[in-house]
Amino acid sequence: MKVGFMGLGGMGAGMASNLAKAGYLTAVYNRTTEKAENLAKVLGVTVFAQPEALAAAVDVVFLCVSADGDVLEMVEATATTVKPGAVVVDMSTVSSDTAQQAAKLLAEKQVEFLDAPVSGGVEGAKNGTLAMMVGGNELTLNKIYPILQVMATRIMYMGPVGSGQATKAVNQIMCAGINEAVTEALAFARAQNLPMKKVIEIISSGAAGNWFLDKRGVTMTNGTFVPGFKLHLHHKDLKICQGMAKKIDFAMPLSDMTVAHYEKLMAQGFADEDISALYRLKSQPNR
Ligand code: NAP
Repeated sequence: MKVGFMGLGGMGAGMASNLAKAGYLTAVYNRTTEKAENLAKVLGVTVFAQPEALAAAVDVVFLCVSADGDVLEMVEATATTVKPGAVVVDMSTVSSDTAQQAAKLLAEKQVEFLDAPVSGGVEGAKNGTLAMMVGGNELTLNKIYPILQVMATRIMYMGPVGSGQATKAVNQIMCAGINEAVTEALAFARAQNLPMKKVIEIISSGAAGNWFLDKRGVTMTNGTFVPGFKLHLHHKDLKICQGMAKKIDFAMPLSDMTVAHYEKLMAQGFADEDISALYRLKSQPNR
């Protein structure tokens, strides 16, 4: 099976590299072609300048782009040339509605679609240790399971198309709470003049220890906010969650607060920083 990858950002580059190392990847596409050319040279795969050309050349198309509109743009382009019987797998974080729209468009071309968002950060993408939540046809998932295994240590079938994205929404709500808690607690520690390295080390080994504290605690308290996970992308995810919550009249005060906090930071020019830049706001005396 020939495999192609579209969207070589922080997440896509790591996942594509693992597919190449395992011998599956044959082709890449990225909107900014230079990125694709540089990675393709290292991985020894073909670069396509257009998504349509890549889609025509492979049996499995992986996507990892920013937002709903971007996924639909890529799927629409793919649908014009993709071979009947091919599989398209979207690993971006978007809404369940977008996943359903993509599946419908591709079904008209006898192409299966899986929504397979991931969690585990750029580190997980690079190390092939992501958690992947999958919606769509389970038989299709089984068909490409060995390919997915080079990117993820945990792959779980969640139900029909859109279920992967709905599960990812749960993850993003939880990440908002963790970000609020970790950045606030560490800003409080700094305000108490505690030795920050020691605080992070000891807290990490107790009940409050978590992935975000482990991976971003030291960098945020050193004032470094290189993504990681861009703040505007988590904001986009929480807006999706708010839309889903509204439909079922579900209150999400914590996520609402994080959206407001991110909007303040975005207005201050920090949209492209890691989500741990929330520490900036928590450290401001009059936030
Ligand atoms: P990123 O580094 O900003 O990369 C975004 C990628 O999408 C780039 O390759 C970009 O192309 C491409 N893209 C954006 N709009 C496009 C369009 N209209 N047409 C074609 N390509 C387009 O973002 P990322 O961190 O890799 O995140 C990608 C997705 O994974 C997002 O949905 C995000 O929410 C999700 N995610 C991120 C993380 C994380 O920790 N970073 C974890 C799990 C899931 P250019 O190079 O041309 O800009």
